[in-house]
Amino acid sequence: NKPVYAFEEADSKKRMLLGGKGAGLSEMTRLKLPVPPGFTITTEVCNKYYENNRKLPKYVMPAVMKNIAKMEKKTGKKWNSTKNPLLVSVRSGAAISMPGMMDTILNLGLNEKTVEGFAEQTKNPRFSWDSYRRFIQLFGKVVFGVNDEKFDHVLDAAKAKQGVSDDSKLNVESLKTIVSEYKKICEEHTKRKFPDTPDEQLVLSIEAVFKSWMGERAIVYREKNNITKDIANGTAVNVVTMVFGNMGDDSATGVVFTRNGHNGKKEIEGEYLINAQGEDVVAGVRTGKSIELLKKDMPKSHKELSNACTKLEKHFREPQDIEFTIEQGKFYLLQTRTAKMSAAALVKTSVDMVKEKLITKDKALTRIPAQQLEALLHRTMDESKIKNHKQLAKGIAASPGAASGIVEFDVKRAIELGDTGSKVILVRKETKPEDVPAFFSSEGILTSLGGKSSHAAIVSRGMGKPCIVGCPELKIDYDNNTCTANGVTIKRGDTITIDGSAGTVFIGEVPTVEPKVTKDFEQILDWAQKAKKIGIRANADTPEGAKLARIFGGQGIGLCRTERMFNGSDRINLFVEMIMAENIEERSKILQKLGQLQKSDFIEILKAMEGYEVTIRLLDPPLHEFLPNPEELVEKIQKLESSGNTSEINQAKVVLKRARELAEINPMMGHRGVRVGITYPEIYEMQIRAVFDALVELTKKKVKAHPQIMIPQISSIAELNHIKKIYDSIKKETESKHKMKLKINFGTMIEVVRAALTANELATTAEFFSFGTNDLTQGTFSFSREDVEGKFLPEYMEKELLERNPFQSIDVNGVGSLIKIGVAAGRALRPNMEVGICGEHGGDPSSIKFCHSVGLSYVSASPHRIPIAIVAAAQAAI
Ligand code: ADP
Ligand code: MG
Ligand code: MG
Repeated sequence: NKPVYAFEEADSKKRMLLGGKGAGLSEMTRLKLPVPPGFTITTEVCNKYYENNRKLPKYVMPAVMKNIAKMEKKTGKKWNSTKNPLLVSVRSGAAISMPGMMDTILNLGLNEKTVEGFAEQTKNPRFSWDSYRRFIQLFGKVVFGVNDEKFDHVLDAAKAKQGVSDDSKLNVESLKTIVSEYKKICEEHTKRKFPDTPDEQLVLSIEAVFKSWMGERAIVYREKNNITKDIANGTAVNVVTMVFGNMGDDSATGVVFTRNGHNGKKEIEGEYLINAQGEDVVAGVRTGKSIELLKKDMPKSHKELSNACTKLEKHFREPQDIEFTIEQGKFYLLQTRTAKMSAAALVKTSVDMVKEKLITKDKALTRIPAQQLEALLHRTMDESKIKNHKQLAKGIAASPGAASGIVEFDVKRAIELGDTGSKVILVRKETKPEDVPAFFSSEGILTSLGGKSSHAAIVSRGMGKPCIVGCPELKIDYDNNTCTANGVTIKRGDTITIDGSAGTVFIGEVPTVEPKVTKDFEQILDWAQKAKKIGIRANADTPEGAKLARIFGGQGIGLCRTERMFNGSDRINLFVEMIMAENIEERSKILQKLGQLQKSDFIEILKAMEGYEVTIRLLDPPLHEFLPNPEELVEKIQKLESSGNTSEINQAKVVLKRARELAEINPMMGHRGVRVGITYPEIYEMQIRAVFDALVELTKKKVKAHPQIMIPQISSIAELNHIKKIYDSIKKETESKHKMKLKINFGTMIEVVRAALTANELATTAEFFSFGTNDLTQGTFSFSREDVEGKFLPEYMEKELLERNPFQSIDVNGVGSLIKIGVAAGRALRPNMEVGICGEHGGDPSSIKFCHSVGLSYVSASPHRIPIAIVAAAQAAI
């Protein structure tokens, strides 16, 4: 490949080579849309730059200069000319768009001489010097890493000196002073003269763009978004002829989506600013005008814009995110890319574009990142409770969903708080790319400045986090860590609730409610249901969970954790009594009561899931988990001793004794699962009986219930057969008592490594398998899943020793091999054996893809993740 391509000669399909921005610019050029002349330096050059010890290979600049000459021809302007200088922007652009992640340099080509020529040519010295000022600031920041604040100080001082408050009121004299101060700042910073020739400026800028690829914020962004080398390898550099949206009131700049990025409606959505440069809109320093107003302001340009939108959508078959600039009435396109939309918008546009015959159903399904659907399943504020809360402010709804949390203004602290489990709402005047890490650890984002295209809005939307921007009545005081609106002052640490769908901010914690599924979403789910091959079941242990799962399209319960049922307030005490029971008689009595409760729970759940299988797992956790922990008990006893209630003290002491007896060094590998079932058979007996009794009752009522019993933590066929005997005798007894045949499949979890390895033996008794991938991952890696996250795992990922957290996304090579062994062994003996997974992985799209590929019968996920799982399963099948 050549190192440099002019827009008109590049093959725009080569996104990896040209980067997204470069590919978009050359595609638009080919479509004969008005793009300022320019060229792209390829991502290959970026990689060469790094291979070459961070130096540009020799052949690059000659190729660049050849293309500059082509631009001169097309524009009639001259590089480094004092009469009619060619000015350019230098823009980064990787194969995957990383909004705002790398900086752009504008107005390159200006120096002490060309600025005068530019002034003469534009007959506007003020504009010309202002452009020069902006150039030095951007160049100083991007190339030399000078802190923006230093420049801001100079600017503020100049404004004060001249007695104006608005940048645009600065006169030529002030601007000249600013320019020389700016240069001094750069020179002090670099200890060298400010580079004055456009050639030198260009080389340094190109290198700076390449360097930014390995800059910290770019690396963090790639990491957090899983952008690996195979999807974006290096950045390209685009050099584009400058056009000016700030040349007067017949000039403007704006950003639009070809469809509404928030709700997906077919309408151009966006904003623009008259007499401004593109950066002003994106940075959100000034809040833009809504794009409909452009129709009145500049009808001709509006028409050109809307034609371009239609053409680009038709061409790319995806809604586009477009940057445009109007220079003295002439319309230019500066960027196009696939619009990053909210989940609701993705769903609506998918359905609409199929109707418009723009895309196929398969495409409609695959274009939606399944993970993002989470946002649609986001909570909203409980309308009935809103009246109890005072509205603090209203801004622009930038990313949907409601969230509550404590206010934090400081980015670093927001990260710390978030990482230690606090729910944080990040409140800022505006956000910058370096703030992105705090987005991950916050529940929601609120900025007082900016519009729908501001950095905060775009990033939040991509992440599915609630966000509100452009909230001018909110005055933020960073120094005192407060913000004030409508006479109310909120301090750091106070709780607020934001509704990113409405743009409203409330004081305190407004309760939130479950989301509803829209018609369009139903359509998508319907298409996905038909396309997918693998079944989707729910992890649910309450009738409500089962109902929700069904509403979301779940077909059965893959994991009903019976121990969760013991945590209900009406029974936890009973369960504790059972653990404390001193002999089997006493225990049996309590178990009988518990059995009644379990039976009625099972009846409700089986009813809610009528027609589908419900896999009931017998008690799994160690018994001490149900008792207060010994340290707490000791404290409690100490407190009681001062108040002197002897009977209470004695009781607590008894519990403490038992808690200590049961305590284990390593509970996750301890006395749990089937081991409890074997040593306290009366517990499993009670549970198995409750399932049979529930089935009897439902069968009599003609309810189509399909319970299955599943044993946790099995490591050998001997254990499984031991429990199977209990099962068989209860089955026989119940059947003869009620004179009916009862079908309850008996199966095992495979969550112990040995179980996977001896699955051929287990299959002789087990009628089904269900992979418990949480424990299986834990055992396979010998990683304690309760501990890794806070300890070494982050560093492992940083050091690239692990690509992903194996507890989130199945480890295909290790855990995946065990699964394959298990599936093969089970199906060798029972060809139609039902094999599923019930770990957290069941809701993770890439794990679902794996499960599909190894032929599992179903995955089981929490009810909220079912729609995501359905779409991911369809995508795996397409
Ligand atoms: P990003 O990747 O952050 O979107 P861009 O390279 O698109 O960065 O540039 C930042 C801003 O500068 C955008 O608003 C863009 O429209 C504007 N810009 C870039 N190149 C030019 C140009 N040649 N003429 C006028 N404005 C430009
Ligand atoms: Mg851009
Ligand atoms: Mg388990």
